[in-house]
Amino acid sequence: MAAVSKQSVTSVHHWNETLFSFTTTRDKSLRFENGHFVMVGMEVDGRPLMRAYSIASANYEEELEFFSIKVQDGPLTSRLQNIRPGDELMISSKPTGTLVADHLLPGRHLYLLATGTGLAPFMSIIRDPDIYERFEKVILVHGVRRIIDLAYRDMITNELPQNEFFGEQVKNQLIYYPTVTREEFVHKGRITELMLNGKLFSDIGLPQPNHADDRFMLCGSTAMLKDTCKVLDGWEFKESRHGIKEHYVIERAFVD
Ligand SMILES: Cc1cc2nc3c(=O)[nH]c(=O)nc-3n(C[C@H](O)[C@H](O)[C@H](O)COP(=O)(O)OP(=O)(O)OC[C@H]3O[C@@H](n4cnc5c(N)ncnc54)[C@H](O)[C@@H]3O)c2cc1C
Repeated sequence: MAAVSKQSVTSVHHWNETLFSFTTTRDKSLRFENGHFVMVGMEVDGRPLMRAYSIASANYEEELEFFSIKVQDGPLTSRLQNIRPGDELMISSKPTGTLVADHLLPGRHLYLLATGTGLAPFMSIIRDPDIYERFEKVILVHGVRRIIDLAYRDMITNELPQNEFFGEQVKNQLIYYPTVTREEFVHKGRITELMLNGKLFSDIGLPQPNHADDRFMLCGSTAMLKDTCKVLDGWEFKESRHGIKEHYVIERAFVD
């Protein structure tokens, strides 16, 4: 296993019965790119129990933030959901991942398409001032089942636009598009449906994606990735692979 460091939990926020966020201290030597993930865990019966976690905080922040599911019989999260400030967690020292702006060809519009906890890496990316230099518009689409699963909604709509360093860029360039599948809401339906019927693009006032302007990052379940890649592949967008920059990158939000 990669080297790990022990870090203290500094805060815990429960969104609802299935989702929570927590922050930890950060090892001074830990360097990462916004969008990366690390292994996070705790000691269980004297052994480390670690799982992959996208870092939700930006790489200039003093603490690390994570956005987590609560799986009731999950080996890690059945325990992790009970952590409190002061508890110790293990965090690996080698962040990695594919959801990195450098892995994409330059473009004008960056679509961040997430379902569930797939939002986590994008919370890091939308807090990165550099992303607003690279792209004219950053479109964050978060698909969930219920309105209460729209974690970070208040932060995205109310706090980030007030940020003293990049609030203006957020106001002018970030488009937040939450969508709900199982309840009535301003935006309703699966991300793929909203792409295929064009509603997503007409709602946000941007044209149908084209190869010259539009780039995509995808983070969700295996099924979400498969369905969304099918839409993008159908429009002849290409996935960046083996160091070759193309139009989109993907990362699984969890392994089924
Ligand atoms: C690259 C990568 C990044 C990840 N980033 C995150 C993250 O930022 N936040 C996060 O909560 N999880 C993330 N995960 C999933 C995480 O690694 C664990 O699976 C999760 O913490 C549950 O651990 P567990 O031991 O309790 O249950 P596990 O045994 O790991 O999982 C049990 C089952 O729960 C379901 N499940 C697991 N994770 C999720 C999830 N996130 N959403 C919905 N269903 C899930 C799956 O069906 C899985 O088979 C990531 C996974 C990968 C591969």
